[in-house]
Amino acid sequence: MRIPVSGEKERFPVWPCGTGAGSFGVYREDRLEKYKVLKEYFGYDGFRPGQEALIGGILGGQDVLGIMPTGAGKSICYQVPALLLPGITIVISPLISLMKDQVRGLNEAGIHAAYINSSLTEGQIRKAMELAGQGRYKIIYVAPERLLSGLFQEFLSRAEISMVTVDEAHCISQWGQDFRPSYLNIVHMIAGMKRRPVVSAFTATATEEVKNDILCVLGLQNPRVLVTGFDRENLYFEVRSGGQKDQELLQYVQEHRKESGIIYCATRKNVEAVCELLKKTGIPAVRYHAGLSPQERKYNQDLFIFDEQPVMVATNAFGMGIDKSNVRYVIHYNMPQSMENYYQEAGRAGRDGERAECILLYSPQDVRINQFLLEEKEFREEMTKEEQEAVRERDAQRLKLMAFYCTTRDCLRGYILRYFGEKTKRRCENCSNCLKEYTEEDVTNICKSILSCIREARRSYGAGTIAAVLHGSKSEKIRGYGLDRLTSYGTQAEVAEYRLREIIGELTAKGVLRSTDDKYATLRLTQAAEKILEGQEAVVMKFSRAEEKKAPAQKKKKQTSGDLDAAGWQLFERLRELRMQIARAEKVPPYIVFTDKTLMDMCLKKPKNRAEMLSVSGVGAAKYEKYGEQFLEGIRGR
Ligand code: ADP
Repeated sequence: MRIPVSGEKERFPVWPCGTGAGSFGVYREDRLEKYKVLKEYFGYDGFRPGQEALIGGILGGQDVLGIMPTGAGKSICYQVPALLLPGITIVISPLISLMKDQVRGLNEAGIHAAYINSSLTEGQIRKAMELAGQGRYKIIYVAPERLLSGLFQEFLSRAEISMVTVDEAHCISQWGQDFRPSYLNIVHMIAGMKRRPVVSAFTATATEEVKNDILCVLGLQNPRVLVTGFDRENLYFEVRSGGQKDQELLQYVQEHRKESGIIYCATRKNVEAVCELLKKTGIPAVRYHAGLSPQERKYNQDLFIFDEQPVMVATNAFGMGIDKSNVRYVIHYNMPQSMENYYQEAGRAGRDGERAECILLYSPQDVRINQFLLEEKEFREEMTKEEQEAVRERDAQRLKLMAFYCTTRDCLRGYILRYFGEKTKRRCENCSNCLKEYTEEDVTNICKSILSCIREARRSYGAGTIAAVLHGSKSEKIRGYGLDRLTSYGTQAEVAEYRLREIIGELTAKGVLRSTDDKYATLRLTQAAEKILEGQEAVVMKFSRAEEKKAPAQKKKKQTSGDLDAAGWQLFERLRELRMQIARAEKVPPYIVFTDKTLMDMCLKKPKNRAEMLSVSGVGAAKYEKYGEQFLEGIRGR
């Protein structure tokens, strides 16, 4: 493999179509070549878990399915073999922003790539296809809508395609929330090709239904399926409940002023309010939701991606296809609708592998908001009543398990990983529950009161009402319903209402109570309640103490950034500034120049010359030629 030399007019290696004819799509695997490509183009010394196995499969001519969490490094799994296979790799990707970002990153790394989607004019597409036909691109990203177009089909009939890669492969599954009918074009495209290329598919969605759909619908042949662990060790998880959300948010964002973060809200209205709140306090923030014009959405997204504005306040409409690697925190102002959504959104933090924080601000009100949103959900026309009902039931169940995440006292990471079907350690020591100190309390009597109250009330009520009755609330509502005449009224007056609600929440999570799935979430007793009411079973629950064992923020920088001292951090700031200047001049997002992690490694290694700079993780040959000298000078302090 030839490495581009600085100053060459044609910096990018050119692979003419037809190279390797006869060895179609097959590569005699040479272990070293993979490492060479990884180092020379991407600047990395080793593969992450799962990458090598998938790359090996592809290079051996085998179809593969890689299921790996966000940030695990799926792109490398197809980009490295794409460079080693004789022909062209077609990557199908659902989002324009994602394609642009990937292509930009590849070109920076010295790999000639292109994209074809609706952001280009017909003329531009024609030109791109012409260059592709001349073998100018090794990797071509295509939107699924384009696959069956005449122009593209004509290109396929002439070109040598070694691999078809399906990114975000879950979009092919009708089970997932992201089903894209145009993904079915992929099947037709492959079927129509004169020789079947290797097919590789990647997704972060791990459910069995989705996995089987991908395997079946895409028709993967004898595939190597690899599911890596879903844990993202660099992410710290925290749930905060019972506090003032606005204050908590402001305080957090102010303490992390220099860092890039996303704040997710459940509704457009909340996005507007939170964005206003931040701006009023002098914190630069931009907004994103489906109610804004496409121009404003794009503009705001770019401000965020280019690090011009550090904070993005958004609904879940934002994020798919955002590759920004230096998002240092993701705060959920409202609880999302499912653990799948939560992990996907929170997972946008820390893609560079540096420590990042995922904080969920929970209030029971969030459950209502989501129930309302789910009720409003529209279904595709072709879905039958029964199918709609099944989806509604599944949504309600997912919401319940999401709410349990917010109230559990167990290790949060453990909860997440178990949800996705993985075995875990009891404690991770990197989530708010593991770092909090708990006291244990016997709450049998309180539970008995709660259960008696629910039994005694003639109708079913939700947690808030039951807590208010037991506490002895004098509100209109309680009196209006005549609930102040119940014998359990005021029997737990000394216990705070929020604590009573917490206990009710835990009883529901334990299956002693069952709450209805509608927006009222009214409570019923289950069989398990009898034992407690009859005094056969005691209930002990954990409650958090006000103070925490260790402040997570302090643990933070030490954990992944090694021994960066004060001078090291100053240097980091200087290099960030330099990166920003370069990014502005080149009109690319700063993380495309170098990721935060790469800058950190520079600050630790303080390279003095070319060879030392090339040993920094993330500095490949092409990047060195472009930026190496400037950063060496930056480190020398000039
Ligand atoms: P995914 O698509 O799985 O969400 P990406 O492909 O965007 O993840 O990779 C996330 C980050 O990890 C990127 O910055 C990428 O360059 C980096 N990365 C990937 N593979 C490696 C590796 N082997 N060594 C170091 N960094 C890597």
